[in-house]
Amino acid sequence: MLAEIDTAIIGAGVIGLATAREIAQRKKGVFVFEKNRTFGLETSSRNSEVIHAGIYYPEESLKAKLCVEGKNLLYKLCDKHNIACKKSGKIIVAADENEINWLKELYEQGRKNGVNDLVLLSRTEVKRLEPNVEARAGLLSPSSGFFDSHTLLKFLYSQAREKGAEFVFGTEVIGIERAGAKYRVQMKDRDGISAFVAHIVVNCAGLNCDRIAQLAGIDIAKAGYKLHYCKGEYFSLDSKYRNLVSKLIYPLPEQAGHGIHFKQGLDGRVLLGPSAHYVGAIDYAVDETHKQAFYNSARRFLPFVELEDLAPESAGIRPKLQGPGDDFRDFVITHEEKTGFPGLINLIGIESPGLTASLAIARYVGRMVKELLD
Ligand SMILES: Cc1cc2nc3c(=O)[nH]c(=O)nc-3n(C[C@H](O)[C@H](O)[C@H](O)COP(=O)(O)OP(=O)(O)OC[C@H]3O[C@@H](n4cnc5c(N)ncnc54)[C@H](O)[C@@H]3O)c2cc1C
Repeated sequence: MLAEIDTAIIGAGVIGLATAREIAQRKKGVFVFEKNRTFGLETSSRNSEVIHAGIYYPEESLKAKLCVEGKNLLYKLCDKHNIACKKSGKIIVAADENEINWLKELYEQGRKNGVNDLVLLSRTEVKRLEPNVEARAGLLSPSSGFFDSHTLLKFLYSQAREKGAEFVFGTEVIGIERAGAKYRVQMKDRDGISAFVAHIVVNCAGLNCDRIAQLAGIDIAKAGYKLHYCKGEYFSLDSKYRNLVSKLIYPLPEQAGHGIHFKQGLDGRVLLGPSAHYVGAIDYAVDETHKQAFYNSARRFLPFVELEDLAPESAGIRPKLQGPGDDFRDFVITHEEKTGFPGLINLIGIESPGLTASLAIARYVGRMVKELLD
């Protein structure tokens, strides 16, 4: 007889951790399986740590709704549990007339999404707020900020455990098979291959989430779940650039990312990034030859930056549903009952603003699980 559990969560990134914490509050028998030796070693620790306001995404999309809800939950949680966090505000900057019109569109989009504190800024107003930034105009988002995501991950892990979730590290899920109304989940650890039975499987596998859906038997091409990897690199700036800019400075968004921004982190380090280019495989090396492109991008609004002051820093990979040239794709967070997989909850394409939205995503999944177990 195989061991039987209520809920198996695959993946201990911020989404798996927040979901485990949420579900374990109400139900026992929540197990999190993670292939790495501990939690949060992939995308959840390779990002900008920015708390996004919720401006860019189409109205009523999950990205818009969960970002706005998640932002508020995250600020409250950071405040209550002393997780370092700074509501610095951010300015999206425009270089010409065309970009100014685009700023106005973003202003409207943000308001439709419930971001009601946005302010369009003239060149003089940008200069007054950020004397070292050069821009024709700006869009101020006072509710944007950044925080210590590593402490959040630790906090979610310890709360999930306190509430009864069990974590199984160094264990890769390699098979999922329907077994009546349940799932037989096969896993591999250093002792070999074993299996258990779960009533509910929640797929929070980040860069592997499409493969996990496929393992369960979903036709991912038909479902539109095939991921495209999109790499984002960061370059650091010399410490002499500290305290020249106080807010996050963003250009207008690109097709695949929010644009290479300028950020002075909680530790004082100044970063440029992330870039966005599609890649075929996971590789976190930063290509030094991209330095010039980072410099060109930064110089448009930060004329004080010098090429020799940039150094390769780190990289992350976005699990995107949107391929090169594609239109907007939303998060997929779905109970696969209609596709013939009751009890399987898939989270696919949880790219930015996934960190900001993590607590709201966990609530959303928590409601699905509650319906299934009640
Ligand atoms: C460059 C970059 C910048 C970003 N900046 C921001 C930002 O500033 N603000 C923001 O809100 N969002 C940002 N994001 C997005 C955010 O980081 C992600 O949305 C979020 O971290 C996704 O978390 P996750 O738990 O889904 O994925 P992950 O952190 O990747 O976790 C998935 C986990 O699943 C595990 N796993 C996979 N397959 C298996 C298996 N078969 N068996 C067991 N375990 C498995 C993995 O090992 C991993 O630990 C950024 C992303 C990138 C790439």
